Amino acid sequence: MVQTLSDTPADHGVMLITGGSRGIGAATARLAAAAGWTVALVYRDRRLEAEELVASMEADGRRAVAIRADVSDERQIMAAFEVADSLGRLTALVNNAGITGGVSRIEALDAAMLDSLLSINVRAPLLCAREAVKRMSSRHGGAGGSIVNLSSGAAQLGSAGVWVHYAATKGAIDSMTIGMARELGADGIRVNAVRPGPIDTEIHADRPPGQLDQMARSAPLGRVGTPDEIARVIVWLSDGAQSSYVTAALVDARGGL
Ligand code: NAP
Repeated sequence: MVQTLSDTPADHGVMLITGGSRGIGAATARLAAAAGWTVALVYRDRRLEAEELVASMEADGRRAVAIRADVSDERQIMAAFEVADSLGRLTALVNNAGITGGVSRIEALDAAMLDSLLSINVRAPLLCAREAVKRMSSRHGGAGGSIVNLSSGAAQLGSAGVWVHYAATKGAIDSMTIGMARELGADGIRVNAVRPGPIDTEIHADRPPGQLDQMARSAPLGRVGTPDEIARVIVWLSDGAQSSYVTAALVDARGGL
């Protein structure tokens, strides 16, 4: 576990972002730090990127820490939240870490890959939500907060011929978002999901060349989105002063696809 901590005080409390080393998570970390959160970003493999991101936020006078934890391991999730506790009051969780499991038709699915996929994309967000709720819920003496889950347009489109298995995990994200929002609203916790469309990140590395652009061209906005365009939605949903009456929302940010 790697920790870096500056002395700059936070205004918004602590936001824990899983998968904060690159892509949408890294963009969210930068924006949230600039908006006044102390950012606890969790990463698995990309230590250098995570440390450089924290260093750049600290250079801007923000407060951030990079925490190495594999979210498919319950103990590592719990340890990551304990590190975040040392930074201040948790006010926001962004369940962002995710994998696709790779391109595969149904007849070629591999059970070990599915176990890993479900563990990272479905089990981990539920376990992270559990840890966040223990800290944020008024039922447990907390002062409320926000959970934002990263779903995908794939939850509705199904990703036939590419990654139906991945789309199914995002359908689960939509269901848990609605259920948690209904369960936790009275406890001061808002729960929402963002459903990005094709966003330019490494998650698409397994796709055949050109497939992402081709998909994006068929959308009304006709282009691939950027991680910043999703980060802005996540940070808005996380901010109780901005999105105070929004919960159980599945926000499409997919260029109309
Ligand atoms: P990405 O660029 O591939 O980044 C994935 C992030 O998740 C990395 O920070 C990675 O950490 C982390 N991660 C993966 N497995 C992990 C594990 N077991 N434990 C801890 N961290 C782990 O992905 P992205 O495109 O930014 O996607 C972020 C989220 O948005 C995902 O949930 C994805 O399904 C969703 N989404 C993305 C798109 C898109 O077009 N990009 C569209 C719809 C939904 P390391 O780098 O340290 O390994």
